[in-house]
Amino acid sequence: MPSLPPVPRRPRWRNLALLALLLMPLLLPLQHMAERYYRDALTEQNGQTLDLYVANLLGTLNRYEVLPPILSQLPSLRQLLQHRDDDQRRDRANRLLAGLQQQTGADVIYLMAPDGQTLAASNWNQPDSFVERNFSYRPYFREAMQGRPGRFFGLGTTSGKRGYFFAAAVREGEQILGVMVVKVDLDHTETLWGNRPAQLLVTDNYGVVILTSQPEWRFHATRELDIAERAAIADTQPYRIQSPPPLQLEPGAWLRQSRNLEDIGWTVSTLTPQALLDRSVRTAVASGGAALLMFLLLLGLLMQRRRHYLERIALDARARQQLEQRVLERTHDLELLNSRLRQEVLEREQAQQELVRAQDELVQASKLSALGTMSASISHELNQPLAAIRSYADNAGVLLDHQRSEDARGNLRLISELTERMASIIAHLRAFARRDRHAPESVALQPAIDDALALLAKRRRAMQVELIRDLPEATLWVQAGETRLRQVLGNLLANALDALSEIAPPRRIWISAETSAEGVDLHLRDNGPGFSEAALQRAREPFFTTKTSAQGLGLGLAICDSLMRALGGELLFANHPDGGAQLTLRLRAAEHGLHHARKDVASES
Ligand code: ADP
Repeated sequence: MPSLPPVPRRPRWRNLALLALLLMPLLLPLQHMAERYYRDALTEQNGQTLDLYVANLLGTLNRYEVLPPILSQLPSLRQLLQHRDDDQRRDRANRLLAGLQQQTGADVIYLMAPDGQTLAASNWNQPDSFVERNFSYRPYFREAMQGRPGRFFGLGTTSGKRGYFFAAAVREGEQILGVMVVKVDLDHTETLWGNRPAQLLVTDNYGVVILTSQPEWRFHATRELDIAERAAIADTQPYRIQSPPPLQLEPGAWLRQSRNLEDIGWTVSTLTPQALLDRSVRTAVASGGAALLMFLLLLGLLMQRRRHYLERIALDARARQQLEQRVLERTHDLELLNSRLRQEVLEREQAQQELVRAQDELVQASKLSALGTMSASISHELNQPLAAIRSYADNAGVLLDHQRSEDARGNLRLISELTERMASIIAHLRAFARRDRHAPESVALQPAIDDALALLAKRRRAMQVELIRDLPEATLWVQAGETRLRQVLGNLLANALDALSEIAPPRRIWISAETSAEGVDLHLRDNGPGFSEAALQRAREPFFTTKTSAQGLGLGLAICDSLMRALGGELLFANHPDGGAQLTLRLRAAEHGLHHARKDVASES
């Protein structure tokens, strides 16, 4: 028997979990990559914002840088410096500066005398007017008085607004008449930054925060200040406070990007919260993890599907093999059974043949034994007529001697009759002993009945037997031998007449036929005494008779039965419920044959 395919082993989810653990380190490079990616992206984005801001800041500053040297050329201002107590000139200068301030968008434009006093200012008519105020302590003034362009960041002492101051000397030849100052408002550049996660940090040359998007960082020092710097701050007062406190930034919490503004010594930085980067990286790693998990789940599902598929295939194969196995076993059993049956059929055939042979032998033996039994009867039967013939012949000789030829003729007729009877006995015996092997032929039934009736017509009429005939008009064709059928019919009718002779009239014989699928049943019934009990049992036996030896041989029904069976038919006999005997000839139907020419029996009818 072929081995059944194994059912594939179940892969465990534990293995998948193990695989997940093994693949977990893959997330580390993913984290590094994500970190680098988001950092680069942030750097680029912040870099652009930073550049934009720096450009804006520098643009603002540069716009005003050129203004003081140009304004210092204005004659009306120069004249005021030369005549500082001239109220008219001062008034004109104030208006001029206010007009210029309006046009340029500067915060304040003002003119200072060499002693640091403000002579005219664009905000002359406002509460925080610079006029008459002395800003000689401011570095820009000092620088300008030294003939250099003055620059300074600082909070307005009156306004408190952060500003950048550009200053230039007003010259008359080598002499410096005064200083022209333009203050630029920086507060608005801070608001430009807007509300974004990255914070703005602009530090001045001391490293102190001057502009920022985080108000609490303002004026905090991002680095240690040395003594000289502290002194300078105290001197120039750029901020409200004398010593700026240090800026406490949590280390590692911010990503810093900076641009140095070389000209003014400032540094512009963006501070991006590290948490922002971390959040993006965490999201990326989580997505990677989820993808990995999905992949593993998918893998698991695929493996499960594959396993189911393999299992089904294996089960199918097993079922198929089992089926084939069963078919093979069944076939084997059937073959065995078949050969046994064939053997049995062979044995049966042999047994049948033996039976037939035995039957043949038995029949032959019974015939021989019957012959033995018969010889007594025959000798008795034949001796009687022989003795009668001898006596009639002797008698005839005596009668002829006495010229009684008529009586002698009577004797001769009796002799002739006796020989006829002897011939009949011999003929019966021959018919019985002979195995008739003629093939049955198609015989018309009604003409055969007519012939048989015709032969017995004289006796029937003498006995006043009424014939009740119930046969169909159409010829019934049966398988038989013509002579044999007539012989059988004659025998049966003779028996009926014999039986009827025992009763007083009315005497009747009924002849009827019944057709069936197999053939024709011909019934012959009489209203005689019927079969005796013993006759019903033994009437088929040869030499069984209830008649006297002169009347019957006991061979009629035996011969009829044998003839009928030889024809493939049957002879049945019974007593009719209404009394009398009923004999049935069961004959096989035959094809239509040639119509039998009726025999000439006129002499007997
Ligand atoms: P046999 O006519 O020479 O006696 P059969 O073989 O023809 O011999 O008949 C056997 C016996 O069957 C008869 O002796 C008789 O007892 C009985 N038998 C036959 N035909 C009839 C009949 N139609 N009615 C009554 N008995 C019959």
